Amino acid sequence: MTSHILERVPLQQVRLLPGEHFDAQQAGARYLLDLDVDRLLYPFRREAGLPQPTDADGNPVTSYPNWEETGLDGHIAGHYLSACVGFAQVADDPQPFIDRAATVVRSWHECQQSFAGDAVMRGYVGGVPDSRTVFGRLAAGDVESQNFSMNDAWVPMYNVHKTFAGLLDTWADFASIDEQTSQLARTVVLDLADWWCRIAEPLDDETFDRILVSEFGGMCESFAELYARTGEERYHVMADRFKDHAIFDPLAQGEDVLTGMHANTQIPKVLGWERLGAICNDEQADAATNTFWDSVVHHRSVSIGAHSVSEHFHPTDDFSSMIESREGPETCNSYNMSKLAERLWLRSGSADYINFYERVLENHLLSTINPKQPGFVYFTPMRSQHYRAYSTPQECFWCCVGSGLENHARYGRLIYALQRPAAQDSADSAAAGFASSAAETGNTVSNNAEAEATRLLVNLYIDSTFDCPEQGLRITQRAARIEDGVDYTVTFTLESTAEHVPDTPGGLRETTLFLRRPWWAEHYGVMEATCAVCTLDPARTNDIPEGYLPLRLRWNGVAEVVMRLRPRITVERMPDGSPWVSFMKGPKVMALASDSDDMDGEFADAGRMSHIATGPLRPLISMPIINGNPVKACAQVSRPYVHGLTVAATDVSGRTMLFDMHEFSSMHGCRYSVYLPVADDGNVCALRAQLADIDARQAASEQTVVDTIACGQQQSEIDHRYSGDNDMMGADGTLHWRRALAGGEFQYAMRGRGQAHRLEIEVIADSAESDGENTAYEVMLDGLPLQRGEHRRIDGDPTAIDVYPLPDAAETAETAENIENTGENDNADDAAIVRISASAHDGAKITALRLHK
Ligand SMILES: [Zn+2]
Repeated sequence: MTSHILERVPLQQVRLLPGEHFDAQQAGARYLLDLDVDRLLYPFRREAGLPQPTDADGNPVTSYPNWEETGLDGHIAGHYLSACVGFAQVADDPQPFIDRAATVVRSWHECQQSFAGDAVMRGYVGGVPDSRTVFGRLAAGDVESQNFSMNDAWVPMYNVHKTFAGLLDTWADFASIDEQTSQLARTVVLDLADWWCRIAEPLDDETFDRILVSEFGGMCESFAELYARTGEERYHVMADRFKDHAIFDPLAQGEDVLTGMHANTQIPKVLGWERLGAICNDEQADAATNTFWDSVVHHRSVSIGAHSVSEHFHPTDDFSSMIESREGPETCNSYNMSKLAERLWLRSGSADYINFYERVLENHLLSTINPKQPGFVYFTPMRSQHYRAYSTPQECFWCCVGSGLENHARYGRLIYALQRPAAQDSADSAAAGFASSAAETGNTVSNNAEAEATRLLVNLYIDSTFDCPEQGLRITQRAARIEDGVDYTVTFTLESTAEHVPDTPGGLRETTLFLRRPWWAEHYGVMEATCAVCTLDPARTNDIPEGYLPLRLRWNGVAEVVMRLRPRITVERMPDGSPWVSFMKGPKVMALASDSDDMDGEFADAGRMSHIATGPLRPLISMPIINGNPVKACAQVSRPYVHGLTVAATDVSGRTMLFDMHEFSSMHGCRYSVYLPVADDGNVCALRAQLADIDARQAASEQTVVDTIACGQQQSEIDHRYSGDNDMMGADGTLHWRRALAGGEFQYAMRGRGQAHRLEIEVIADSAESDGENTAYEVMLDGLPLQRGEHRRIDGDPTAIDVYPLPDAAETAETAENIENTGENDNADDAAIVRISASAHDGAKITALRLHK
C-alpha cells in the first residue's frame, strides 16, 4: 500500500474570483500600498546609525507614530515584508509588492552591514530602541525581564522575531519570483540567526529562562524552520531552548494551564512546538501541541473560531467577561491559530483541523478588514450591540495591523491541496480500475487497485481558480444559489491547459478529485456532470483525508461537475453553557445588526487606546431573547431568508418578533450581536432581570470610573505608560497583579484627573497587611502622598479595595512638582502620575487602579 502526503499548492496558482474574499484581499492590498516603506524602516536605520532618506519635500523621513515610536519600533516591517511576499503571489500586478519587498530586504542588509565591526552586534538587524544596550546587557548575562519587557525594552524578542519571519517568508516564497531578493533574505536571516546564537549560546539555562519570561513571539518556530532548511544542529538546539518549559511541560503532560495567561504570547510558541514535532519527531512537542489545540479550539473559542478577552485566556467555565467586555477576541490570535490549523491538517488530514481553519477564516479573519474604507480590527467584541474600531494606515501600528497586513493575502493557501503518493513504486497504478458500468453520477465503484495518481483536493468553497500545470489543468469553482433560496450549487469546471496524453484507451484523461464534504451541509452530492464521474470506494482507496467525497473523473477538453449543497442551520451555545447562543447558516456565523450611533473612534487615530471601541455600551436588557428551544426559534420561521437567517425572539416589550440576521463576516459600520440571550425554560422575564443586574453593575462602573488600569496586563500597563524599578508582576490564577518590592516602586499615567474625586486601588487581600490599618505600600499622585480613607473587604472575596480621596485637581496641579510629560496623545492637564512604592517590606499585590468621579 502506498501512503499519501498532503501538500499545500503554491499561492501563485490560486486566484480569487469576485466576492467577499476577493474584496477583502483587494482592500488588504490597498492598505499595504498606502504605507511608506521608508517610514517603516526608520527604526532599523536609526539603530544602525544610517542616515534617513529624504521625502518628496526634501525632509528626512520620520518614524511612524503609535506603537512604532513607543517601544515596539520596527515590529510592523517584518509583517509588512511577509505581506508583500504574500500579495506578490496573488496580485494581478505583483511588481509594486516585489519592489517593496526587495527594498526592505536590501535596506535590512545595509543596516546589518553597519554592525559588522561590532563584536556583540555583528549580524544584528532590528528596530528595538537602544538595541546595543538591550542586547549588550543580554550578551553579558544581564537579563532583567517581566512578561512584556526585557532590559527596559518592550518585548524585544517578540519584535526581533518579526524580522526573522519576514526574511524566512521571503527566502522561501520569493525563490521563483525574485531569486536575488530571496537569496539576499537567506543571507540576512542566517547572519541574524548566527548573531543570536553567538550571544545567547553561552548563557546558562537560568539566564536563558529569564529571556523567556518576556513575550518572545515565534523564536522557537524560526529556529526550527532554520534547522529544517539548513540541517545546522545549533539551530535545532536553539529551537529547543525556546520551548519554554514553564508552559511546555504541563501541556506535554496533558495539563491545561492556560487560564489567566496572555493568549498570544503562547500561540507562537505552539507553532514552534508543532515544527519540532514535524521536523524532529519530537513526541513531547506533539503532545504539548495537542493539549493546547484541544483546550483552545474545543473549550475556549466562541462561534467565530476566536478566543480571549483583553488578550487573556479566561476560565473555560466562565465566559461572562466575553459577554460583557469591549475587548473580545484579538485578531493576531486567530492569525496564529489558522497557521497552526493549516500545519496540523497538512500533517494529519483530520477534519477537526480543516473545520476549524474554515471557521476562523470565514467568520473571524474575513471580518477583520473593512473593505469599503480599508482598516484592520484589533478586538472583535462578543458583547451584544457593541462595535469595532478600525485602524487607519498612517496612524495605527498595533500588533493586529501587522498580522492584518498578512491575513488577506492568505485566502488561497488552503482552498485547494494536492495529495500525492509518498513513493511512486507501484506498477499497478496504470491498472487502477475504472468500472465503466459505474460511470454514473454518484455511484461507488469497486476500483480493483488503488489509484496512485496525485489527488486534487477541494477544501474550501470559495469562488476561485487553481492552475495546476503539474496536472495540465485548471479548475474553477463558482457558487450559485438555487432559486428556492435554500440550496446552492458549486460548479467545478475543469479545463485542459496542456497537451495531454490520454490516461485511458478511450482517449480520455482521469482526474482524482476529492471534494470536502462539509460538516455544515445537510445534503451534499453531485447534481450533474458533463463527464463520467465515479465515486471511489473508501474501503479500497488508501488515505482518504477525513470527510472527503472521493471522485474520479474521465474527461477531456472541458468538463463540469455541479455539486448541490444545503447549508445546515446550527445553534451553538456559549462554551460555558451560559444562556447565550450563536446561529450559523452553513459555515457562516450570523449576527444581528443594530444601530450605528455613538461609535466613538470607529476609525482610530494614533492615540494609545485607539484600538478599543470606547463608545457607550448598549444595555443587555434591550436584546431580543430567544424564548425556549433556539433550534425552534429559526425552524418556526416559515419564510427562508435567502441571504441570512430569520429568528423569532421576544423583544423588550414582550412581543414575539422576527429578526433578520446576516453573515457576520461582511457586517461593518454598525453595532452587532453575534450571541443572543436564550431563556431555555421560557422564563423570559427572569432572564431579563438577570441581564438588568449585569447592566446595573456595569453602568455604575461606566458612569463613575474615569480610568482603569489592569495591573500586570500588558496592553493596559503599556497604555498607561508603566515604568518601574525593583518591582514585579505575576498572577494568582486569573488575578494579575503588580507589586513593588522592598525599596522599589512603579508608576502609571492615569487619565481624567480633572473629573476624578477618588482613587480606588484593588489589592489581593492576603497580600495586604493584616492589621487592616496600614497598607503594605505607599501611593503618591503627582508627587503628593495620598492618605487612605477606607479599606473595603468582603469575606471570601480574594481582593480588597483601598479608597483614597483626592484633593481638587487644581490644588494638586499647583503644588505638585515635576509632573512628567505623559506624551503628546494625552492631554497633560488631565493626566496624573500615580506612583506606588514599598519601603521596608514588599508591597501589596495590586490588581487594578481606578479613578472615580
Ligand atoms: Zn494583535
